Amino acid sequence: MNGPSSVHDARPDPNGRLKRLRALFSDEVPALLVSHVANIRYLLEAPTMFDDDFGGLLLVTQTTASLIADSRYSGQAKEADLVCGVEPASGSLWETLARLVKRRKLKCVGFESRYLTVAQWQQLKKVVPVELAPTTDLAERLRAVKEPAEIGRLTAAARIADEVFNDILNLLGPGLSEREVALEIDFKMRRAGADRSSFATIVATGPNSAYPHAGAGERRIQLGDLIKLDFGAVYKGYHSDMTRTVVLGSATDRQAQVYGAVLAAQTAALERLVPGLTGAEADALARNVFESIGMAKDFGHNLGHGVGLEVHELPTLGQKSEGRLEVGMVFTVEPGLYFPGFGGVRIEDMVVMRENGVQTLTTSAKQLIEI
Ligand code: ZN
Ligand code: ZN
Repeated sequence: MNGPSSVHDARPDPNGRLKRLRALFSDEVPALLVSHVANIRYLLEAPTMFDDDFGGLLLVTQTTASLIADSRYSGQAKEADLVCGVEPASGSLWETLARLVKRRKLKCVGFESRYLTVAQWQQLKKVVPVELAPTTDLAERLRAVKEPAEIGRLTAAARIADEVFNDILNLLGPGLSEREVALEIDFKMRRAGADRSSFATIVATGPNSAYPHAGAGERRIQLGDLIKLDFGAVYKGYHSDMTRTVVLGSATDRQAQVYGAVLAAQTAALERLVPGLTGAEADALARNVFESIGMAKDFGHNLGHGVGLEVHELPTLGQKSEGRLEVGMVFTVEPGLYFPGFGGVRIEDMVVMRENGVQTLTTSAKQLIEI
């Protein structure tokens, strides 16, 4: 019998992913040149295999898949039992691709217009004498809907961040710099099993918390500060992303009021998110709460974004997002309010969309924490 853990442990079937990708091909564009490394990792179900310097190419046709890799990676790829052939680059990657396109008798090849640089495109055009068709979001749309094993990895990544948040609360105190706190968070995540941090950890204190993406600087924590911590762990190639905002000392009335408004907006969204909503409708669930108290202008960013093999991926929950939320999507819900000079509050959870609504993967407490 298959218990839930064995479902989570099951390796996703990369042939299924290639099949779903091919279903998006057309007679006009019967092949895709995949150059974005996160898409290559996904399509081959090799989430940790290629680093960001990879630079290799995956050519997928209706019946074949071939990975072109230079000598830094080709040996490793050959041994990895991937669901594609491996073509070690001889000459440049582009020349190797050109020979392959000829061998496959392709007349048109789609490319990923978001990722190919102008220089690469010029190179491609020069060497590969077939029609080149720009495409967008083919693999990205597949990646947005997660398989059970992926949800298992994302849950584990979220759990590492939750654990570290709990731990870090004991450490926060006056005199520590933002950088020192960020370093502790990064270190503790690694020690708890993370491959690495999902992104440069944000520790924004006092007035710095008014900047949504402040980073972590030299400022030292003072009594009365809002402290905004936004961080995440990568586990087996999958990213987590969470934010909590706490107060050092007793919160002022205004701090408590702003915190309460952000929590109310997040709660409203979490309770009402269901499959079928557009990203814009989802964003409005939280934005309307701010609107009703005259604070919508102080919420400048989107409500959320997908997370997976990248920390920002589809779907987008924003005022202009027309794509619909589907069962199996994993994304953040992160309303925030920011006031220059005063500070800012953001609360961010990761959730997975289920049939009847969202299941929250982030488990850290959300009542206002005064340390
Ligand atoms: Zn975040
Ligand atoms: Zn986020």
